[in-house]
Amino acid sequence: MTLIERHRAVLPNWLALYYADPIEIVSGHGRRVTDANGKSYLDFFAGILTNALGYDVAEVGDAVRKQLDTGIMHTSTLYLIRAQVELAEKIAALSGIPDAKVFFTNSGTEANETALMLATQHRRSNQVLAMRNSYHGRAFATVGVTGNRGWSASALSPVRVSYVHGGYRYRGPFAGLSDADYIKACTEDLREVITTMTSGDVACMIAEPIQGVGGFCVPPDGLYGSFAEVLAEHGILFISDEVQTGWGRTGEHFWGIGAHGVTPDMMTFAKGLGNGLAIGGVVARAEVMDCLNANSISTFGGNPVATVGAAAVLDYIADHDLQASAAELGDRLLAGLRALEVPAVGDVRGKGLMVGIELIEPDGAPAPAKAVAVLEACRARGLLVGKGGLHNNVIRLAPPMTVTADEVDEALDALTGALGEL
Ligand code: PMP
Repeated sequence: MTLIERHRAVLPNWLALYYADPIEIVSGHGRRVTDANGKSYLDFFAGILTNALGYDVAEVGDAVRKQLDTGIMHTSTLYLIRAQVELAEKIAALSGIPDAKVFFTNSGTEANETALMLATQHRRSNQVLAMRNSYHGRAFATVGVTGNRGWSASALSPVRVSYVHGGYRYRGPFAGLSDADYIKACTEDLREVITTMTSGDVACMIAEPIQGVGGFCVPPDGLYGSFAEVLAEHGILFISDEVQTGWGRTGEHFWGIGAHGVTPDMMTFAKGLGNGLAIGGVVARAEVMDCLNANSISTFGGNPVATVGAAAVLDYIADHDLQASAAELGDRLLAGLRALEVPAVGDVRGKGLMVGIELIEPDGAPAPAKAVAVLEACRARGLLVGKGGLHNNVIRLAPPMTVTADEVDEALDALTGALGEL
């Protein structure tokens, strides 16, 4: 049996795999990976999936190996873990949240589950606001706040969710408005949803500063600041899901929410922080974090291996000024794509190293089949990219933050060829 046949036999049917002929990656270095057939690819999706810094980063590997040399991968969160305390101190200081406290999980989904549990417990309400076209995970509560049926594993959820406009601007009732009018229209929508669809005592709003899975949709700067004013009138907590937008990836700000002039009550994070190690977490105002009557939520979150690795990742980002690099190279990628004249490209958008290409039919309708074709054509050219969007018609580019200008140009060449084939 081939590996794909064995995969299909023992793993769930609903586990999606990219490509008609799925790739098995066996090694990686820098921004490149090699598959089981020896073919090398430039990876322009790894930065979002897990590898903020790329593959085989010596500083991260050394930190993890040093921990392994102690003989301890994990004991229990019942004991003091120095690396966990140190990482929490770093993240609390970076968060900008006054009195911040941090709880570590193993994934972004668990981080959002924790944040939702904190908010609902703190406010004694299971009513939650979420964005249309959002993605926050697929566990019991997170599946409810994920505002895209295509990404929801189940319609059952313990939270009662009302969805508002604002994330996806290219289509929908407010498409085409100026930034100021868009913010005004979405804020009015939020106000109406709160007063007509909830009993007012809503626990929280959860939102991604840039919708990731939803197709790298960038709302106008300030949208969430305007939302926050309405939320404050009702005492509703605001959770910024920074799983994709954190750690400087958007270039101009360390957290995606920085573009909105608001300090959230909580932020959730994961993925890139571990550069492949399983880590996520919540950073929250102390009063909110401390509202639970629990002795823990996860016994594995914040284990020594994950936390020493994550601390090395944060040091690397600061030491190499990768936020500035994300701004510069993100602009280069956006400019290169915007210069292309391809009729099937309806929209090129993004911030920093989160760049989306929305593919359309001649009449403007979403073109999901074209996104599949571009994904395959890029692969044939040795470039890995991502796919997403409400209509599955967006190509997502999110290279590791260590990407170089030459690699951006190489990706642009491959994309030019792949888009030219449409
Ligand atoms: N939030 C956002 C914004 C995400 O993009 C994701 C993952 N795509 C998650 C949460 C869930 O993270 P994980 O897959 O680590 O559970």
